[in-house]
Amino acid sequence: MPELRKDPITGRWVIIAIERGKKPTDFVSPISQRKRGGFCPFCPGNEYTTPPEILAFRPSDSKPNSPGWRLRVMPNKFPALQIHGDLKKSGEGMYDRMNGIGAHEVIVETPEHFQSLSTMPLKAVEDVLWAYYLRISDLRKDERFKYVMIFKNEGEVAGASLEHTHSQLIALPVVPRLVREEIEFAKRYYSFRERCIFCDLITQELDDGKRIISQNDGYVALAPFASRSPFETWILPKSHQSKFSPPNRDFSGFAEILQWVLKQMDRMLEVPPYNFVIHTSVFNDEENEYYHWHLELIPKLTKIAGFEWGSGFYINPTPPEEAAKYLREART
Ligand SMILES: [Zn+2]
Ligand SMILES: [Zn+2]
Ligand SMILES: [Zn+2]
Repeated sequence: MPELRKDPITGRWVIIAIERGKKPTDFVSPISQRKRGGFCPFCPGNEYTTPPEILAFRPSDSKPNSPGWRLRVMPNKFPALQIHGDLKKSGEGMYDRMNGIGAHEVIVETPEHFQSLSTMPLKAVEDVLWAYYLRISDLRKDERFKYVMIFKNEGEVAGASLEHTHSQLIALPVVPRLVREEIEFAKRYYSFRERCIFCDLITQELDDGKRIISQNDGYVALAPFASRSPFETWILPKSHQSKFSPPNRDFSGFAEILQWVLKQMDRMLEVPPYNFVIHTSVFNDEENEYYHWHLELIPKLTKIAGFEWGSGFYINPTPPEEAAKYLREART
């Protein structure tokens, strides 16, 4: 029997359509994701082809916008939003509009063209997380922004236009709908239970165990009860933390579990394209008791089609319990 499941955080319904018969092994990606190479604006030596860097991890004797860096952040050459100008809101009858103010930046995670988050040294993954953190801390000072969304598209199918591994961020003058939904549900839960819904979810999942993919001292990776698609994975800090930040100025625990999950997916699903996003609290209420930051990761194995588009319902052919077991038990 297929099953309808409701995500406790957002109230989103998902159809777990088991009879569609997709076993974890059915998803080995058909197209090889091996990188092809060719001219790349993100490779060392080509710094002159990108907008000037905003942040770089490089030896102190090397010049900005020249080779020698370990990680580099610059404005997106084709930004979705513009950084310059004042935020203007206007109305036209019942319609609201706002000019497209925002920041759109690219985080080039390594100088090595053929590396990825799953293959680079763990220290380099930590650097990437530090870059996210430092950029959010800087953009927070800009009063026009309410939220910064960190995201990554890996592989062409997942929307990456350049194959050199990179993440992106967009700073927004509004809080995105999905984050607002999570916050509203979490606040409602907190108002009658006086507990964080994510903390409760983590406790229950750790007790139960069947959707746990991996864990270490500080973090847990799990397949959510109402997973939208096969192998959807959430990584959360085990103890309550509303704002994305390193506990004791140390990102090693988070880097370790993130890389472990990505390595398992590469191994078991043959280097799938994927997207991830970091959901953190909003700038005007960063330290709070009700929200809990997390990373949501979805390998691109199924296509979003008409029903999903029209209904907001997802159909997932693989139960999260099976997906979690498959990743958890895969030999490392
Ligand atoms: Zn490159
Ligand atoms: Zn919590
Ligand atoms: Zn979320």
